[in-house]
Amino acid sequence: MTNAKPVGCEEFFSYLETLFSVSENDMRAMIRDFHVEMKKGLRGDDGSLKMIPSFIDRPKGDEKGQFLALDLGGTNFRVLAVILDGKGRAVVPAAGKFAIPPEHMRGTGVALFDFIAGCIDRFLIENRIDRSRTHDLAFTFSFPVEQTAIAAGKLMVWTKGFTATGVKGRDVIVLLHDALKRKGIHCINITALANDAVGTLAAGSYRDPACDLGVILGTGTNACYREAVSRIEKLKTVNGTDHMIVNMEWGNFHKVRHTPYDNVLDKGSVNPGAMFLEKMVSGMYLGEITRLVLIDLMEKGLLFPGDRAVRASFREKDSFKTADMSLFEGDGTDDLGKIGAFLEGRGIFHAAFGDRFRLKHLCRIVSRRAARLGGAAICAVLTWGDPELQRTHTVAIDGSLFEKYPGFKGRMKRAFTELYREKAEKITLVHSKDGSGKGAAIIAAVAAGRK
Ligand code: ADP
Ligand code: MG
Repeated sequence: MTNAKPVGCEEFFSYLETLFSVSENDMRAMIRDFHVEMKKGLRGDDGSLKMIPSFIDRPKGDEKGQFLALDLGGTNFRVLAVILDGKGRAVVPAAGKFAIPPEHMRGTGVALFDFIAGCIDRFLIENRIDRSRTHDLAFTFSFPVEQTAIAAGKLMVWTKGFTATGVKGRDVIVLLHDALKRKGIHCINITALANDAVGTLAAGSYRDPACDLGVILGTGTNACYREAVSRIEKLKTVNGTDHMIVNMEWGNFHKVRHTPYDNVLDKGSVNPGAMFLEKMVSGMYLGEITRLVLIDLMEKGLLFPGDRAVRASFREKDSFKTADMSLFEGDGTDDLGKIGAFLEGRGIFHAAFGDRFRLKHLCRIVSRRAARLGGAAICAVLTWGDPELQRTHTVAIDGSLFEKYPGFKGRMKRAFTELYREKAEKITLVHSKDGSGKGAAIIAAVAAGRK
């Protein structure tokens, strides 16, 4: 094992540190810019935040009922049975998880919705669900949707690598309904459409009234919060409620400093020029940003010098995943043996300790920026409604990145402390497991006015 460092490595890493840094001042500027964009979105002016009204307020906690819920997030498709007990508890007696085949993400919409209907069919069979009676179903569809009613909404634009044809501009509830019919499933009544962020807030506030922000940190990133209807200037008519949940679609926030690596990633994506915050923060992209830096380091001779096999093993787009970064950062062994074993699995034997160390360092640089940008975005939304942080706030967060990435939550909290000192303690981050799925059922219950 050699620790010899090629010349220039330290300088290059300090350049990367600066390039990917998010200072306290950067965060304060980002919060101000967020408020400007939020205001534009609420007014209906052009901007990077769509600020989509959901037409529904958060639950009171006494909603009751039995529902099926679908969760189409980006990586997996899930079907859940959910029972709301009317006392703030949502129980999931049955759940099924299906990986979405890439050919369905990028094929035709009909094939994608047929795949969904097929999963539902399997779920009904495997859980022996009675088809002789009707089941209310809530659909969590986590892409930007122009919602027109509680169970109607058109896809505005695909994100997270999806391109399935014939869906954009169409009502996704109609597409689901048609696919169920084609599959011969007649026992389902679709009662609500939500997205994962709205669902996560609904699930969080069902059990905790201090929860006023729902955040997704998974394949993509997004958030929604509870807004006073009087501040949603673009709403012409208001139907009785004084507050409603607003889906921000914050992944599209664009006033963020891009590095050359971000630009390469953006150009090679299926949606260039859009979703900049998402591309710097969420699980679908962090591994790829890291890979792009890694290739650069290798080309400069600063990593695995002289090893051609290594280069080949990282050559392919998306060949390094955010889950791999998790593994690297979670390697607490003295010799970074887990990273070594990973590299061996890629045909890279005898990687120098220095190289393993630098790989881990690189993951930290990329993920720390993500956590701090995500943290600043959370602060922006909280201070929009409570500028001096006078109240306590629970933030419900769903998604594998938040759940599984070592240190992600801690880094976000450190950002809060830098910004607000002791007041940062008023912000509690909770992982809302299955939040998006349960939340859809809760929204269906709110919509139905069930007690
Ligand atoms: P979705 O966002 O599609 O609903 P998840 O919340 O499960 O689904 O997020 C899946 C994404 O989380 C994956 O695309 C991947 O980027 C990321 N991910 C999965 N496992 C890990 C892990 N161990 N550490 C960090 N990120 C992960
Ligand atoms: Mg999800």
